[in-house]
Amino acid sequence: MNNHVTVLEIDGNALEHNLNYFKQKLQPTTKILAVVKAFGYGSDGVQVAKFLENKVDYFAVAYAHEGIALREADVKTPILVLHPHIQNLQDIVNYRLEPNLYNFQIFEAFLKLADEAPLMNYPIHIKFNTGLNRLGFWHTDIPKIISELKETNHVKVQSLFSHLAASEDLEEQDFTISQINNFAYIAKQFYQHLGYEPMLHILNTSGVVNFSKAQFDMVRIGIGLYGFGNDDKETEQLKNTHNLKSIISQIHIIKPGETVGYNRAFVAKRTTKTATIPIGHADGLSRKLGNKKGYVLINNQKAPIIGNVCMDMIMVNITKIQCNEGDEVIVFNHQNMIQHIANVSETIVYETLTAISSRVNKMLKQ
Ligand SMILES: *Cc1c(COP(=O)(O)O)cnc(C)c1O
Repeated sequence: MNNHVTVLEIDGNALEHNLNYFKQKLQPTTKILAVVKAFGYGSDGVQVAKFLENKVDYFAVAYAHEGIALREADVKTPILVLHPHIQNLQDIVNYRLEPNLYNFQIFEAFLKLADEAPLMNYPIHIKFNTGLNRLGFWHTDIPKIISELKETNHVKVQSLFSHLAASEDLEEQDFTISQINNFAYIAKQFYQHLGYEPMLHILNTSGVVNFSKAQFDMVRIGIGLYGFGNDDKETEQLKNTHNLKSIISQIHIIKPGETVGYNRAFVAKRTTKTATIPIGHADGLSRKLGNKKGYVLINNQKAPIIGNVCMDMIMVNITKIQCNEGDEVIVFNHQNMIQHIANVSETIVYETLTAISSRVNKMLKQ
C-alpha cells in the first residue's frame, strides 16, 4: 500500500462479472485457473487473488516469487508456477507452490529434491510444446518422462498442459487446431503409460472465446478477467477492471509563445490553461502519448497531453475545461480508453496494463 494520489482502482465487481461471463461459455465441470501473474496484469495480484480465491479452482503466476507473495497473503488455493527455475525449487516446495516442469533439467532437479526431502505425491505440472516453441517438452520426450515418473511416488502429475500460439487469430485457425490435436494425442500417450489421468488444459482467454470445444478439464484465463476478450464483440460483453485516476496538482495560465515541458515541445499559440498531473512514464504512461497523442478526462472532457511525457508528470491542455487544482483526473476508466492508449503507444493492451508501475497506489474496490 502507498499513499500516492495516483490510484489504480481495481473493480472487484467487474472481475467477478468477467469470471462469470467466461464460466457461462464453459461446461459446469470445467475448472477455472485465474492468471494473476505480473501483479494481476498491472493491478495487484495479491488483492485480485484474495478477491477471487473462493471463486476459482487455481491460480497461475509466471515466477516463483509471485506465488510466494500470494502465499504470504494467506491465499490457500493451488498455485501453478508457470516458469520456475532450479534456483527457486526449494522455495516452491516451502510455499506449497506447484511447479511447471518444462525440460529435463528442471524435471530431474525437482525429482531429486522430492526424493531427498522426501515429499509424498507432490503436485507437479508438465508442459508440452505444441508449436509456440517457447517452453515445454516435445512429444518425443514422453517415454523418458514416464519411465522417470514410474520410479517415484514423491511427485504426482496434477496436470499436463500446453499453450496456444495464435488463439486470437482466426486466420491461424488451422495451426491452432493442429496444436490442440497434438496436445490431445500427447495426453492420450501419457495416460496410457502413466496409469492415472492428470488434468489437461490448453486454452487461454481467446482460446476459450474461439476454441471452447478444447476446454478439456481446465482453462487459464488472464486478460479476459481484466476486461479484454481479444475481440471487440467479446470485450463489449466484459467490464473494465482497471480504473486509473489522479488529480490536478497545479494549474498554469501561459501566454502565447510560452512553452510547456522538456525540450519546450509544446508552444502556446494563444493564451492556454494547463494542468499538471502526477503520473508519468515511470508510472507506465508511454512517452508516445505526448504531444497530443494521448488525453485524460477532466470533468468528462478530453484534455490532451501537451509536450513530452515526463518521468513523474504530464501536462494537459484544459483551456476549455472548468476545473480546479485538486480535481479528479481520469487517465482511463474504460476498455476503449485503454485500447486507445495501447494503439498510440504502438503496443497491445497486455503491455499497457502490465506497464502500470508499482509506484501507482493499487486498490481493489468491491
Ligand atoms: C499468460 C498466460 C495465460 C493467460 O493468457 P491470456 O491471453 O491473458 O488469457 C495462459 N497460459 C499461459 C501459459 C500464460 O503464460
